[in-house]
Amino acid sequence: MSLSIKDQVVATLRQLALPGSQQDIVSAGIVSDIYVNDGRVMFSLSVPSERARELEGFRAEVERRVKAVPGVDKAMIALTAEVKQGAKPAPAPQQRGTVPQKAGVPGVKSIIAVASGKGGVGKSTTAVNLALGLSANGLKVGILDADIYGPSIPRLLKLSGNPETIDGKILVPKENYGLKVMSIGFLVDEDVPMIWRGPMVVSALTQMLRECAWGDLDVLIVDMPPGTGDAQLTMAQQVPLTGAVIVSTPQDLALIDARRGVAMFQKVEVPVLGLVENMSYFLCPHCGGRSDIFSHGGARHDAERLGVPFLGEIPLELKIRETSDAGLPIVATDPESALAKTYRKLAADLWSTVTGTTRRAAPRIVID
Ligand code: ADP
Repeated sequence: MSLSIKDQVVATLRQLALPGSQQDIVSAGIVSDIYVNDGRVMFSLSVPSERARELEGFRAEVERRVKAVPGVDKAMIALTAEVKQGAKPAPAPQQRGTVPQKAGVPGVKSIIAVASGKGGVGKSTTAVNLALGLSANGLKVGILDADIYGPSIPRLLKLSGNPETIDGKILVPKENYGLKVMSIGFLVDEDVPMIWRGPMVVSALTQMLRECAWGDLDVLIVDMPPGTGDAQLTMAQQVPLTGAVIVSTPQDLALIDARRGVAMFQKVEVPVLGLVENMSYFLCPHCGGRSDIFSHGGARHDAERLGVPFLGEIPLELKIRETSDAGLPIVATDPESALAKTYRKLAADLWSTVTGTTRRAAPRIVID
Protein backbone atom coordinates (compact mmCIF):
# COMPACT_ATOMS: atom_id res chain seq x y z
CA MET A 1 0.00 0.00 0.00
CA SER A 2 1.46 3.36 -0.95
CA LEU A 3 1.67 6.11 1.65
CA SER A 4 -0.08 9.45 1.12
CA ILE A 5 2.10 12.56 0.77
CA LYS A 6 1.02 13.59 4.24
CA ASP A 7 2.06 10.25 5.73
CA GLN A 8 5.42 10.48 4.02
CA VAL A 9 5.91 14.02 5.31
CA VAL A 10 5.09 12.86 8.84
CA ALA A 11 7.53 9.95 8.46
CA THR A 12 10.22 12.42 7.37
CA LEU A 13 9.50 14.72 10.29
CA ARG A 14 9.80 11.76 12.68
CA GLN A 15 13.46 11.61 11.74
CA LEU A 16 14.12 15.19 12.78
CA ALA A 17 14.68 16.62 16.24
CA LEU A 18 15.20 20.19 17.38
CA PRO A 19 18.87 20.93 18.09
CA GLY A 20 19.52 19.99 21.69
CA SER A 21 16.55 17.61 21.89
CA GLN A 22 16.43 13.81 21.74
CA GLN A 23 12.79 13.67 20.80
CA ASP A 24 11.63 13.90 17.18
CA ILE A 25 9.53 16.96 16.38
CA VAL A 26 6.33 14.99 15.80
CA SER A 27 6.49 13.23 19.18
CA ALA A 28 7.50 16.53 20.77
CA GLY A 29 4.16 17.89 19.57
CA ILE A 30 5.53 21.00 17.92
CA VAL A 31 4.24 20.28 14.41
CA SER A 32 0.91 21.93 13.54
CA ASP A 33 -1.73 20.33 11.34
CA ILE A 34 -0.16 19.55 8.01
CA TYR A 35 -1.99 20.90 5.03
CA VAL A 36 -1.38 19.30 1.62
CA ASN A 37 -2.88 20.68 -1.55
CA ASP A 38 -1.80 19.96 -5.08
CA GLY A 39 1.85 19.27 -4.26
CA ARG A 40 2.05 22.15 -1.77
CA VAL A 41 2.69 21.35 1.85
CA MET A 42 2.20 23.88 4.62
CA PHE A 43 2.61 23.65 8.36
CA SER A 44 4.27 25.40 11.23
CA LEU A 45 6.62 24.42 14.03
CA SER A 46 5.93 25.99 17.36
CA VAL A 47 9.11 26.92 19.17
CA PRO A 48 9.95 29.16 22.12
CA SER A 49 10.01 32.72 20.77
CA GLU A 50 13.51 33.39 22.14
CA ARG A 51 14.88 30.53 20.00
CA ALA A 52 13.21 31.62 16.74
CA ARG A 53 16.29 33.28 15.27
CA GLU A 54 18.63 30.46 16.21
CA LEU A 55 16.25 27.85 14.73
CA GLU A 56 15.96 29.46 11.30
CA GLY A 57 18.59 27.05 9.92
CA PHE A 58 16.65 24.11 11.31
CA ARG A 59 13.44 25.41 9.71
CA ALA A 60 15.20 25.64 6.35
CA GLU A 61 16.49 22.09 6.77
CA VAL A 62 12.98 20.80 7.54
CA GLU A 63 11.72 22.58 4.45
CA ARG A 64 14.47 21.03 2.35
CA ARG A 65 13.66 17.55 3.66
CA VAL A 66 9.93 17.97 3.07
CA LYS A 67 10.54 19.22 -0.46
CA ALA A 68 12.52 16.05 -1.14
CA VAL A 69 9.42 13.91 -0.44
CA PRO A 70 8.12 12.53 -3.75
CA GLY A 71 5.08 14.48 -4.94
CA VAL A 72 5.93 17.65 -3.02
CA ASP A 73 6.55 20.69 -5.22
CA LYS A 74 6.49 23.38 -2.65
CA ALA A 75 6.88 23.45 1.11
CA MET A 76 5.92 26.41 3.27
CA ILE A 77 7.09 25.95 6.80
CA ALA A 78 7.10 28.65 9.42
CA LEU A 79 8.25 28.92 12.98
CA THR A 80 5.57 30.18 15.31
CA ALA A 81 5.98 31.30 18.88
CA GLU A 82 4.98 28.65 21.35
CA VAL A 83 1.69 29.39 23.09
CA LYS A 84 1.31 27.74 26.46
CA GLN A 85 -1.64 25.41 26.75
CA GLY A 86 -4.72 27.36 27.72
CA ALA A 87 -2.95 30.68 27.41
CA LYS A 88 -4.78 33.50 25.68
CA PRO A 89 -3.24 34.32 22.30
CA ALA A 90 -3.05 38.01 23.15
CA PRO A 91 -1.27 39.43 26.15
CA ALA A 92 -3.42 41.64 28.33
CA PRO A 93 -2.43 45.32 28.27
CA GLN A 94 -1.18 45.23 31.85
CA GLN A 95 1.45 42.68 30.76
CA ARG A 96 3.07 45.38 28.67
CA GLY A 97 6.57 44.62 29.88
CA THR A 98 6.36 40.99 28.80
CA VAL A 99 5.14 41.47 25.22
CA PRO A 100 7.85 39.98 22.99
CA GLN A 101 9.35 42.38 20.49
CA LYS A 102 8.28 41.42 16.97
CA ALA A 103 11.16 41.51 14.50
CA GLY A 104 10.68 44.03 11.73
CA VAL A 105 10.79 43.18 8.03
CA PRO A 106 14.12 44.34 6.59
CA GLY A 107 13.66 47.20 4.12
CA VAL A 108 10.04 47.81 5.11
CA LYS A 109 9.74 51.03 7.11
CA SER A 110 6.15 50.75 8.26
CA ILE A 111 3.36 48.20 8.15
CA ILE A 112 -0.26 49.25 8.36
CA ALA A 113 -3.17 46.83 8.75
CA VAL A 114 -6.49 47.63 7.13
CA ALA A 115 -9.17 45.81 9.08
CA SER A 116 -12.91 45.69 9.56
CA GLY A 117 -15.19 44.25 12.17
CA LYS A 118 -17.14 42.34 9.52
CA GLY A 119 -17.01 41.43 5.84
CA GLY A 120 -18.45 43.34 2.93
CA VAL A 121 -17.83 46.84 4.23
CA GLY A 122 -15.33 47.67 1.48
CA LYS A 123 -12.15 46.92 3.44
CA SER A 124 -10.20 45.53 0.46
CA THR A 125 -11.39 48.27 -1.88
CA THR A 126 -10.29 50.86 0.66
CA ALA A 127 -6.97 49.08 1.24
CA VAL A 128 -6.16 49.10 -2.48
CA ASN A 129 -7.13 52.71 -3.10
CA LEU A 130 -5.38 53.82 0.06
CA ALA A 131 -2.22 52.00 -1.05
CA LEU A 132 -2.48 53.65 -4.47
CA GLY A 133 -3.09 57.01 -2.79
CA LEU A 134 0.08 56.61 -0.70
CA SER A 135 1.96 55.62 -3.85
CA ALA A 136 0.57 58.64 -5.75
CA ASN A 137 1.82 60.78 -2.87
CA GLY A 138 5.37 59.65 -3.61
CA LEU A 139 5.83 56.66 -1.30
CA LYS A 140 7.06 53.17 -2.14
CA VAL A 141 4.15 50.92 -1.31
CA GLY A 142 3.41 47.21 -1.10
CA ILE A 143 0.18 45.41 -0.31
CA LEU A 144 -0.09 42.06 1.43
CA ASP A 145 -3.44 40.35 1.12
CA ALA A 146 -3.88 38.34 4.28
CA ASP A 147 -7.62 37.89 3.87
CA ILE A 148 -7.75 34.12 4.09
CA TYR A 149 -11.54 34.08 3.89
CA GLY A 150 -11.72 35.84 0.55
CA PRO A 151 -8.50 37.11 -0.96
CA SER A 152 -9.75 39.78 -3.35
CA ILE A 153 -6.59 41.81 -3.96
CA PRO A 154 -5.61 39.76 -7.07
CA ARG A 155 -8.94 40.65 -8.67
CA LEU A 156 -8.87 44.27 -7.53
CA LEU A 157 -5.40 44.75 -9.02
CA LYS A 158 -5.87 42.46 -12.02
CA LEU A 159 -3.19 39.98 -11.05
CA SER A 160 -3.24 36.20 -11.09
CA GLY A 161 -1.13 33.06 -11.14
CA ASN A 162 1.46 31.64 -8.81
CA PRO A 163 4.22 34.01 -7.73
CA GLU A 164 7.75 33.47 -8.96
CA THR A 165 10.33 32.50 -6.41
CA ILE A 166 14.02 33.02 -5.94
CA ASP A 167 15.61 29.55 -5.68
CA GLY A 168 12.22 28.14 -4.70
CA LYS A 169 12.53 29.85 -1.32
CA ILE A 170 11.77 33.54 -1.48
CA LEU A 171 8.48 34.68 -2.98
CA VAL A 172 8.69 37.47 -5.53
CA PRO A 173 5.81 39.94 -5.21
CA LYS A 174 3.79 40.65 -8.32
CA GLU A 175 3.45 44.24 -9.45
CA ASN A 176 0.72 46.38 -10.92
CA TYR A 177 -0.11 50.09 -10.83
CA GLY A 178 3.23 50.66 -9.09
CA LEU A 179 2.37 48.46 -6.09
CA LYS A 180 4.21 45.33 -5.00
CA VAL A 181 1.63 42.70 -4.22
CA MET A 182 1.55 39.37 -2.43
CA SER A 183 -1.68 37.54 -1.80
CA ILE A 184 -2.82 34.34 -0.23
CA GLY A 185 -4.87 34.13 -3.44
CA PHE A 186 -1.66 33.58 -5.46
CA LEU A 187 -0.76 30.61 -3.28
CA VAL A 188 -4.01 28.71 -2.95
CA ASP A 189 -6.56 27.74 -5.51
CA GLU A 190 -9.58 30.04 -5.20
CA ASP A 191 -11.94 27.26 -6.22
CA VAL A 192 -10.73 24.78 -3.63
CA PRO A 193 -12.43 25.39 -0.29
CA MET A 194 -9.90 25.46 2.51
CA ILE A 195 -10.20 24.90 6.18
CA TRP A 196 -7.66 27.12 7.81
CA ARG A 197 -6.45 26.12 11.20
CA GLY A 198 -4.72 28.69 13.38
CA PRO A 199 -1.12 27.60 12.78
CA MET A 200 -1.70 27.36 9.03
CA VAL A 201 -2.83 30.94 8.95
CA VAL A 202 0.24 32.03 10.82
CA SER A 203 2.49 29.93 8.64
CA ALA A 204 1.17 31.38 5.39
CA LEU A 205 1.20 34.90 6.76
CA THR A 206 4.74 34.61 8.04
CA GLN A 207 5.98 33.37 4.70
CA MET A 208 4.23 36.12 2.73
CA LEU A 209 5.59 38.71 5.12
CA ARG A 210 9.11 37.54 5.81
CA GLU A 211 10.05 35.29 2.93
CA CYS A 212 9.07 37.68 0.23
CA ALA A 213 11.38 39.99 -1.73
CA TRP A 214 9.59 43.23 -0.81
CA GLY A 215 12.70 45.35 -1.35
CA ASP A 216 12.65 48.87 0.09
CA LEU A 217 9.17 50.01 1.00
CA ASP A 218 7.99 53.08 2.87
CA VAL A 219 4.83 51.28 3.75
CA LEU A 220 3.30 47.84 3.46
CA ILE A 221 -0.49 47.74 3.64
CA VAL A 222 -1.88 44.48 5.05
CA ASP A 223 -5.43 43.63 4.04
CA MET A 224 -6.58 41.71 7.11
CA PRO A 225 -9.32 39.09 7.21
CA PRO A 226 -12.58 40.67 8.40
CA GLY A 227 -13.68 40.16 11.97
CA THR A 228 -12.15 40.10 15.39
CA GLY A 229 -11.83 36.39 16.14
CA ASP A 230 -8.76 34.38 17.08
CA ALA A 231 -7.34 34.26 13.54
CA GLN A 232 -7.41 38.04 13.30
CA LEU A 233 -5.98 38.48 16.76
CA THR A 234 -3.13 36.08 16.04
CA MET A 235 -2.36 37.89 12.81
CA ALA A 236 -2.38 41.26 14.49
CA GLN A 237 0.06 39.77 16.97
CA GLN A 238 2.37 38.15 14.44
CA VAL A 239 2.92 41.16 12.22
CA PRO A 240 5.09 44.03 13.48
CA LEU A 241 2.38 46.59 12.81
CA THR A 242 3.01 50.31 12.92
CA GLY A 243 -0.72 50.77 13.26
CA ALA A 244 -4.15 49.85 11.99
CA VAL A 245 -6.91 51.50 10.00
CA ILE A 246 -10.46 50.32 10.61
CA VAL A 247 -13.02 50.49 7.83
CA SER A 248 -16.67 50.66 8.73
CA THR A 249 -19.98 51.49 7.09
CA PRO A 250 -22.36 53.89 8.79
CA GLN A 251 -24.95 51.32 9.80
CA ASP A 252 -25.09 50.84 13.51
CA LEU A 253 -24.30 47.15 13.39
CA ALA A 254 -21.15 47.67 11.38
CA LEU A 255 -20.15 50.33 13.86
CA ILE A 256 -20.48 47.96 16.75
CA ASP A 257 -18.14 45.63 14.86
CA ALA A 258 -15.75 48.50 14.21
CA ARG A 259 -15.62 49.12 17.94
CA ARG A 260 -14.61 45.48 18.43
CA GLY A 261 -11.88 46.00 15.83
CA VAL A 262 -10.54 49.00 17.71
CA ALA A 263 -10.61 47.00 20.95
CA MET A 264 -8.77 44.10 19.30
CA PHE A 265 -5.85 46.25 18.18
CA GLN A 266 -5.72 47.99 21.53
CA LYS A 267 -5.50 44.57 23.15
CA VAL A 268 -2.37 43.72 21.17
CA GLU A 269 -0.99 47.22 21.68
CA VAL A 270 -1.18 48.29 18.06
CA PRO A 271 -2.16 51.95 17.68
CA VAL A 272 -5.35 52.56 15.74
CA LEU A 273 -4.37 55.21 13.21
CA GLY A 274 -7.91 55.97 12.24
CA LEU A 275 -11.41 55.00 11.30
CA VAL A 276 -12.67 55.29 7.71
CA GLU A 277 -16.37 55.50 7.02
CA ASN A 278 -17.02 53.73 3.72
CA MET A 279 -20.27 53.90 1.74
CA SER A 280 -20.86 56.93 3.88
CA TYR A 281 -23.35 58.70 1.64
CA PHE A 282 -24.75 58.05 -1.80
CA LEU A 283 -23.64 60.03 -4.84
CA CYS A 284 -26.17 59.69 -7.64
CA PRO A 285 -24.38 58.73 -10.87
CA HIS A 286 -26.97 60.67 -12.89
CA CYS A 287 -27.41 63.98 -11.14
CA GLY A 288 -24.36 63.98 -8.84
CA GLY A 289 -26.71 64.68 -5.92
CA ARG A 290 -25.81 63.46 -2.49
CA SER A 291 -28.13 61.57 -0.19
CA ASP A 292 -27.42 60.17 3.24
CA ILE A 293 -29.13 56.85 2.80
CA PHE A 294 -27.56 55.40 5.91
CA SER A 295 -27.24 57.18 9.19
CA HIS A 296 -24.13 58.91 7.90
CA GLY A 297 -21.58 60.34 10.31
CA GLY A 298 -21.66 57.48 12.79
CA ALA A 299 -17.99 56.58 12.35
CA ARG A 300 -16.85 60.15 12.99
CA HIS A 301 -18.89 60.20 16.17
CA ASP A 302 -17.63 56.76 17.16
CA ALA A 303 -14.02 57.71 16.49
CA GLU A 304 -14.39 60.69 18.82
CA ARG A 305 -15.93 58.54 21.49
CA LEU A 306 -13.22 55.88 21.18
CA GLY A 307 -10.46 58.46 21.09
CA VAL A 308 -9.10 57.38 17.70
CA PRO A 309 -8.59 59.70 14.71
CA PHE A 310 -11.36 59.93 12.15
CA LEU A 311 -9.64 59.65 8.77
CA GLY A 312 -12.48 60.43 6.44
CA GLU A 313 -15.51 59.25 4.56
CA ILE A 314 -15.86 57.59 1.16
CA PRO A 315 -19.19 57.82 -0.66
CA LEU A 316 -21.15 54.85 -1.89
CA GLU A 317 -20.61 55.22 -5.60
CA LEU A 318 -21.26 52.89 -8.46
CA LYS A 319 -17.97 53.97 -10.05
CA ILE A 320 -16.06 52.53 -7.09
CA ARG A 321 -17.75 49.18 -7.40
CA GLU A 322 -17.36 49.05 -11.18
CA THR A 323 -13.69 50.00 -11.19
CA SER A 324 -12.82 47.72 -8.25
CA ASP A 325 -14.56 44.72 -9.64
CA ALA A 326 -12.95 45.24 -13.06
CA GLY A 327 -9.45 45.42 -11.58
CA LEU A 328 -9.16 49.09 -12.54
CA PRO A 329 -8.92 50.88 -9.18
CA ILE A 330 -10.06 54.45 -9.44
CA VAL A 331 -7.00 56.12 -7.91
CA ALA A 332 -4.82 54.55 -10.61
CA THR A 333 -7.16 54.69 -13.58
CA ASP A 334 -8.96 58.00 -13.05
CA PRO A 335 -6.54 60.00 -10.93
CA GLU A 336 -8.19 63.35 -11.71
CA SER A 337 -11.61 62.26 -10.44
CA ALA A 338 -13.03 63.66 -7.21
CA LEU A 339 -13.05 60.14 -5.76
CA ALA A 340 -9.36 59.61 -6.47
CA LYS A 341 -8.65 62.93 -4.75
CA THR A 342 -10.69 61.81 -1.74
CA TYR A 343 -8.59 58.65 -1.43
CA ARG A 344 -5.34 60.59 -1.89
CA LYS A 345 -6.34 63.02 0.83
CA LEU A 346 -7.18 60.07 3.07
CA ALA A 347 -3.76 58.57 2.33
CA ALA A 348 -2.03 61.87 3.08
CA ASP A 349 -3.86 62.25 6.39
CA LEU A 350 -3.06 58.66 7.30
CA TRP A 351 0.60 59.20 6.50
CA SER A 352 0.81 62.34 8.62
CA THR A 353 -0.67 60.35 11.49
CA VAL A 354 1.95 57.63 10.92
CA THR A 355 4.86 60.05 10.75
CA GLY A 356 3.43 61.97 13.69
CA THR A 357 3.17 58.73 15.64
CA THR A 358 6.69 57.57 14.86
CA ARG A 359 8.20 61.07 14.73
CA ARG A 360 10.19 60.27 11.63
CA ALA A 361 10.93 62.92 9.01
CA ALA A 362 7.83 63.23 6.84
CA PRO A 363 8.25 62.26 3.20
CA ARG A 364 7.21 64.68 0.49
CA ILE A 365 3.47 64.52 0.14
CA VAL A 366 1.76 66.27 -2.72
CA ILE A 367 -1.96 66.97 -2.52
CA ASP A 368 -3.66 68.71 -5.37
P1 ADP B 1 -14.56 43.66 2.10
O1 ADP B 1 -13.10 43.61 1.82
O2 ADP B 1 -14.90 44.48 3.32
O3 ADP B 1 -15.24 42.33 2.12
P2 ADP B 1 -14.81 44.71 -0.59
O4 ADP B 1 -13.76 45.77 -0.67
O5 ADP B 1 -14.55 43.41 -1.27
O6 ADP B 1 -15.25 44.47 0.92
O7 ADP B 1 -16.16 45.37 -1.13
C1 ADP B 1 -17.37 44.67 -1.19
C2 ADP B 1 -18.15 45.17 -2.41
O8 ADP B 1 -18.52 46.54 -2.20
C3 ADP B 1 -17.35 45.14 -3.71
O9 ADP B 1 -18.19 44.78 -4.78
C4 ADP B 1 -16.87 46.58 -3.86
O10 ADP B 1 -16.67 46.93 -5.22
C5 ADP B 1 -18.02 47.35 -3.26
N1 ADP B 1 -17.63 48.64 -2.66
C6 ADP B 1 -16.68 48.86 -1.74
N2 ADP B 1 -16.64 50.16 -1.41
C7 ADP B 1 -17.58 50.79 -2.15
C8 ADP B 1 -18.04 52.16 -2.27
N3 ADP B 1 -17.50 53.13 -1.54
N4 ADP B 1 -19.02 52.41 -3.18
C9 ADP B 1 -19.58 51.40 -3.90
N5 ADP B 1 -19.22 50.13 -3.85
C10 ADP B 1 -18.23 49.81 -2.97
